[in-house]
Amino acid sequence: MGDTAAAQRLRLLQAEFVQPTRSGPGDGRTPTRAHSTAPINLGVLQQIQAAVQEVETHTRAAAPEAGPFTDPRAERVYDWARQQTAHLDAERQQAREALIYRQSMEHALTTGDTSVVRRQPCPACGCWGLFWREAQHKAVCVNRYCTDEQGLARTWTLAHLAQQYIAERNSAAARAT
Ligand SMILES: [Zn+2]
Repeated sequence: MGDTAAAQRLRLLQAEFVQPTRSGPGDGRTPTRAHSTAPINLGVLQQIQAAVQEVETHTRAAAPEAGPFTDPRAERVYDWARQQTAHLDAERQQAREALIYRQSMEHALTTGDTSVVRRQPCPACGCWGLFWREAQHKAVCVNRYCTDEQGLARTWTLAHLAQQYIAERNSAAARAT
């Protein structure tokens, strides 16, 4: 997954659920929602606005000299955040990337793509058996031996999975140089 994934997914969300142009059958990516009766999905619109707001708040907390994000294209917020914080230390840049990666997974899940969770190894047992449990808004490990102190299947937040992914990507990059 490249660094532009979050922006592309946010743009897809807008195209699929926010712009009131869709009619007739979909293109196959989201067959269950192609016939949505509401022309504009306010829930998704609010999710996009909340995502932009979160990135802006996070960026301005780390880099107070950054002005407000004013670009009308919501998906540009990720590039903007990277530009405003490019001079900060590695730890803060890693926190920014973890936030962007978490939002990228959230955007994918909203479009019904749960593969973003299956592509992460379980942080406890390392298996590739995570699946998404929408009611809990968490990823659950399918390994029956991977349980917590109460004997329940281990669950992980998207934030935790995103931090793990970015930390491992950074250490892999450090080893390669
Ligand atoms: Zn596990």
